[in-house]
Amino acid sequence: MEYQAKELFAKHDVPVTLGTVVEKADDAAAAAEANGGRVVVKAQVKIGGRGKAGGVKLAEDPDEAVARANDILGMDIKGHTVHRVLIAPTADIAEEYYFSFLVDRANRNYLCIASIEGGVEIEEVARTNPDAVAKVSIDPGTGVDDAKAAEIVAATRFPAEVADEAKDVVKKLWKVFIEEDASLVEVNPLVRLGDGHLEALDGKVTLDENADFRHPDHAQFEDKAAADPLEAQAKEKGLNYVKLDGEVGIIGNGAGLVMSTLDVVAYAGEAHSGVKPANFLDIGGGASAEVMANGLHIILGDPQVKSVFVNVFGGITACDAVANGIVHALELLGDEANKPLVVRLDGNNVEEGRRILDDANHPLVTLVDTMDGAADRAAELAAK
Ligand code: GDP
Ligand code: MN
Repeated sequence: MEYQAKELFAKHDVPVTLGTVVEKADDAAAAAEANGGRVVVKAQVKIGGRGKAGGVKLAEDPDEAVARANDILGMDIKGHTVHRVLIAPTADIAEEYYFSFLVDRANRNYLCIASIEGGVEIEEVARTNPDAVAKVSIDPGTGVDDAKAAEIVAATRFPAEVADEAKDVVKKLWKVFIEEDASLVEVNPLVRLGDGHLEALDGKVTLDENADFRHPDHAQFEDKAAADPLEAQAKEKGLNYVKLDGEVGIIGNGAGLVMSTLDVVAYAGEAHSGVKPANFLDIGGGASAEVMANGLHIILGDPQVKSVFVNVFGGITACDAVANGIVHALELLGDEANKPLVVRLDGNNVEEGRRILDDANHPLVTLVDTMDGAADRAAELAAK
C-alpha cells in the first residue's frame, strides 16, 4: 500500500511526507490536526487509479477530513474494500512526473520508465504520445551510478531547475529497488512542489518474496486479511498450495507432476459432471507422514473438496516411504479423514508401496495403477 511504500522510501531518504493512517473516520480529525489542518485523504488499497475512483480527496480542515474519510472508508475500488485511509498534508503541486524501476524479463536486465507528463493520465500519455515516455535500460552489473542517473534525467527531459535533485532522487529510488529486493518501484506522481523541491506523492512497490529470508521486516507488509484462509494456513506449514475452485483435491510430489495432474483431472472431469481440480499442492521430495498429514489436513478442510487424488512418483523418497506416510497421516487425522482418497503410486519401490497400502486396507483409500485411471476414479467419486 502507498503508506507502506512511503515508509520504505523514507528509509532510503527518498523525499516523502508520511502522514497518518487511520481506520476510523472519527480519528481523521486528530490526524488532520497533526498534519497541518489542510490535508489529503487517500484510500489505502493495493490497486491503482484510486484518484479517478474518488478515493483521493482534499480537505480544508479537520471536520472536512472526517467527512471525506467517512466517504472513502468502506468504498469499493475495483474489488478492493477500503479499510484505512492515509491523512497527509496537502501538497502544493507545480508539476507531476512519472517514475519507475522494474525488472525487464525479456531483455534480462532492469528498466527505468519515466515521464515528465505523469499523473493519473499516464496510461493515456503512453498510448497517445509514447515519445513523452523515456525508457532507459540498466545493466544489473553497474546499476544506477552517477552517469546512469544523469542519462535517466536527460532522457526523461526533467526541467533544468530540478535536474540535480532528480539525479539524487533517482539514485535513492534505485537503492529502494535493489536493497529491498523489489521487482517494481513506481512513483506516480513524483511532484515538483511550489518551492521547487521534489517529493514522492504516491508509491507502489512490489517485493520479491523469494528474497523474504533476508528481509524479516517485510513480513509486516503481508496483507493477511486478503489472503485465502486455506492458502494462509498452508503457507504457515511451508506447503506449496494454491486454492482453485473445483472438487477434486490434489496432492503430488514435484511441481511438474502436480501441474500434469491438474490437467489430467480436468480432462477426466469432463466425463463426470465437469468436476475440476480443487487445488494445487506440491509436497516436494521428502513426503513424510507429517507433510502428508499437513497436506491432507488443508485439503480436507476445503468444504468444496469431494474426493482427493494423491499422485506420487517415488524417487529419492521411495514409494514404500510415501505409502507409510499416507497410512500414518490417516492415523494422525483420525475422523478428520472423511473423503475418499484415490492413490496412484509409481517409481522407486512401487511394489512395496502398493503392498503397504493393500495391507492397511483403509476404507477410504482406493489404489489405482495408472494416472489416467486414478484421475477418472477421483473425478467419478467427486461427481457422486
Ligand atoms: P492514484 O490515483 O491511486 O495513483 O493516487 P495518487 O496518490 O497518485 O493520487 C492521484 C492524484 O491526486 C495525483 O496525481 C494528484 O494529482 C492528486 N493528489 C494526490 N495527493 C495530493 C495532494 O496532496 N495535493 C494535491 N493538490 N493533489 C494531490
Ligand atoms: Mn498514483
